[in-house]
This record gives sequence, structure tokens and C-alpha cells, in this order.
Amino acid sequence: MRLPEFADIQAAAGRLRGHAHRTPVLRSATADARTGASLFFKCENFQRMGAFKFRGAYNAIACLTPAQRAAGVIAFSSGNHAQAIALAARLQSVRATIVMPSDAPAPKLAATREYGGEVVTYDRWAEDREALTRRLAAERGLALVPPYDHRDVIAGQGTAALELLEDAGHLDALFVCLGGGGLLSGCALAAAALSPSCAVFGVEPEAGDDGRRSLRAGRIVTIAVPKTIADGAMTTHLGELTFPIIQRHVRDIPTVSDAQLIETMRFFAERMKMVVEPTGCLAAAAAFAEAHAWRGCRVGVVVSGGNVDLARYAQWLAAA
Ligand SMILES: *Cc1c(COP(=O)(O)O)cnc(C)c1O
Repeated sequence: MRLPEFADIQAAAGRLRGHAHRTPVLRSATADARTGASLFFKCENFQRMGAFKFRGAYNAIACLTPAQRAAGVIAFSSGNHAQAIALAARLQSVRATIVMPSDAPAPKLAATREYGGEVVTYDRWAEDREALTRRLAAERGLALVPPYDHRDVIAGQGTAALELLEDAGHLDALFVCLGGGGLLSGCALAAAALSPSCAVFGVEPEAGDDGRRSLRAGRIVTIAVPKTIADGAMTTHLGELTFPIIQRHVRDIPTVSDAQLIETMRFFAERMKMVVEPTGCLAAAAAFAEAHAWRGCRVGVVVSGGNVDLARYAQWLAAA
């Protein structure tokens, strides 16, 4: 599969028009005062199904051939990609089978079923989800839409930064959370085209720093499943497509602790009146921590999603 390019992101934006929300770019006087920078928050927690993943899923399904659409799609995911595929498939009258870990957050399992996806569960710590998914795809003749390492998925995710740059104008820096790198590589391609001097950063949880290590090593480094509250970034390795784009367009990959994520969740709730899931706080946590380098600058922050188990959310905020 060839690497996605900026033109693919522009084409994806055309397919998403009228189907995905154009999410708001919010400001916070408190965040600006605290950092000395001008922060622009692209709020994908307000996207359909609550995360940017709707963009890549919708675009990938829109790019299928008529025969593939008739057969249906299959996806594996610890959460948001599952809901995104289930919803995007239903909206385009395509059947969706979703392979999910049995310990995925309950609201994510329930939402995937509510959106009309057929859920097949597996044991996250014992089974190889990719092998299971590929076997089901072959048996049932389904088109596999992976969560990040796919041209049309990356192109769809890149529309988040495309919109942010259209709305905010030039940015000096852009912080994006990093799991498998679909969002980061798409956003980095958009930034390279629209704001070429913008420094793009991927942000990982401390416990899952495979991307940072990969960038240092010059090859894809695989780690064990990381233990972190950022469940959307529990990936063990970058992709064959996302890694070369990240190598080329991403300046560095800072990491943040779970404690920083909780502090940032509290900031969003208290100051911006937004429910943001732990993974959705990665970029903002790093932007706050590295603010000293960006005083007086225009800094974009992608807030990636807001799907969180409310009981756990309440515990995190109460303990902070
Ligand atoms: C999937 C996801 C991520 C990570 O995205 P990648 O494209 O895998 O890097 C970050 N935040 C949220 C909310 C997600 O659902």
C-alpha cells in the first residue's frame, strides 16, 4: 500500500463533509495564562461517537469497492475504533463485525453493539487479536479496516488537523496523542502542507513509549502491552505506514505520566467544562509540561476523545 499524501487528506475531507462534525477549536484564558502561549484545542471529544476515529473509519468505508461493501467489514479495537467502524458502517449500510478485548471499558462494548456492530470478544493478555481478526476476515470474506495502519484511515484522521489549521491559522507547534500513529501521521501530513514550519510532537504514555524508542532507534520497536490509564494508547508498536511518516514529519515524542493525565482531565472538567478520556489528555498534558519552550507561540492541541467510564472518571477526579 502506498503512503498517504496530503491530497488523500483533502479527498477524505470531501467525503466526510456533512457526515462528520466539524468540531470546535476552543480557547482557554486559563491555559494561555498558565503557559504563556496561545493554545488552540481541537475538540474531537465532540466528534460523532466521541472521538476522532469516526473520521478514518468513515473515510475507509467510503473508499471500499461495491463488492467489499456488499460483503461487510471487520475491525479489531480496544474501543473507539470499534464504535467508529460500527457507526460509520451503519451510516453507509455496510455490515460490521468488531473484535474487542473482553476487558474493554463497558460503555465502549455497549456503544459498539448499540451502533449495530456484531461484537466478537477475546482475551487481551492471551490471544493475538490480529491473527483472530484475519482468520475471521478470511472465513467470512470481510474487508479488514485496521485501526491505524491504513492509507484511508490515516487520511481520514488527518482531516482533524486540516480543520484545525484552517480555523486557527498558522501554528508554531502541534501536539497530538500517539498510539499506533494514525492520528499523528495524518495530522503531521496536514501540518507539513499547511503550516510547514510547525513543529509536530507525538505524545505517549510513559509506560508505552514504543514510538519514542522507535524514533530514536530508526526502526519500529515493539513493547509489551503497556499498563496505563490511557487505554487508547495501549498499542505495542507503530505501523509500517505510520512510522515512516512520523520519522519524516514529527520532531519528537515526549511522554507523560498517568498522574499528569489525571491532572489534565481535571483541568478540562473544571476549566473548560469538558469530559475528556485519559488518552485524550496526552497532548494537552505534554503541551502544559513543555510550555516553557513555547512562550508567545501559537500551539495546537488535539483533544482526541471523550469516551470514559463515568464511575472510573469520578474516582480519578476525586483522588486527584
Ligand atoms: C485511538 C485513539 C488514540 C490513538 O490513535 P492512533 O491513531 O492509534 O495513534 C488516541 N486517542 C483516542 C481517544 C483514541 O481513540
